[in-house]
Amino acid sequence: MSGILPDGCRLKVHLQMPLICNMDPPCPYCGIYRSLHSDDVPPVTDVRRWFVALDDLSRKRGPLHVACLHGEPFADRDLMRVLGRLSEHNLIDCFSNMIRTADVIRESFGVPENLWVTASFHPHHWADVASFAERVADVRSMGVRCDRVFLVAFPPNIPRLQGWIGELVEIGLTPYVMPFTGELSGARYPEAHTDEEWSLISRYLAERFGEDGFMTSRKGRLCRAGIDIVFVDTDGAVRSCPSGYAHDLGNLLDGTMRTLDAPRPCLAPHCQCPDLWRLIISD
Ligand code: SF4
Ligand code: SF4
Repeated sequence: MSGILPDGCRLKVHLQMPLICNMDPPCPYCGIYRSLHSDDVPPVTDVRRWFVALDDLSRKRGPLHVACLHGEPFADRDLMRVLGRLSEHNLIDCFSNMIRTADVIRESFGVPENLWVTASFHPHHWADVASFAERVADVRSMGVRCDRVFLVAFPPNIPRLQGWIGELVEIGLTPYVMPFTGELSGARYPEAHTDEEWSLISRYLAERFGEDGFMTSRKGRLCRAGIDIVFVDTDGAVRSCPSGYAHDLGNLLDGTMRTLDAPRPCLAPHCQCPDLWRLIISD
């Protein structure tokens, strides 16, 4: 793998899909949950349109790395049918809570070897790590790559965090700890963490971001966002990066999508995703 693209892929397409989820009850720290049964959340109904647009793009550009990282993509059967067909010639990359993941892969993915699943461990749903590990093993048994796990450092869970991480590492998952941001019992986090809690969380953050990774500004550096990766919204609108300082790159669904022809200076005060730092051209 060089830069942001896995070997063989020519463009990463980051799909921002409707944020639906099958977690019941929802995770107590979730800020985006909308139930599968909610009337106001349209699933990806126009399957054919999305399939045609992405398939067409992959024919023009070469194999895509299609990443679908929000909500629970495996809760949307229509979306998964699209991604399953695309996996025949492209790399598909999804986050998942692992609840129905294995069943959906069996139904929809003809080439599971072209699927990467990043697991999220949500402790309120699982009796223990062992029951979660069974789902991970099931998914891996089909040839799917599943080697990373995300956990939220939810304040009531912090005393058990290290124990869970130890067990997850034992089953071959690399842990990524996300800080909890929000209000709980009248306190605002992450500010309300004790020093001891914050030092534990910071240790995990430093493993991923480096000691000062979050705070180092990349503004002004040349970046390949919009060349190697594009961000596509639910209506097909394409942007070069997720920062709010992105270039508008047309629309995937109406055929006007373009990519940038040369790296551009980063305009954002901070770029908080370590994956995206690999787009920056070295000085
Ligand atoms: S699994 Fe993810 S999207 Fe679903 S409720 Fe939990 S945090 Fe929210
Ligand atoms: S460094 Fe990050 S925020 Fe800046 S242009 Fe690149 S992807 Fe966007």
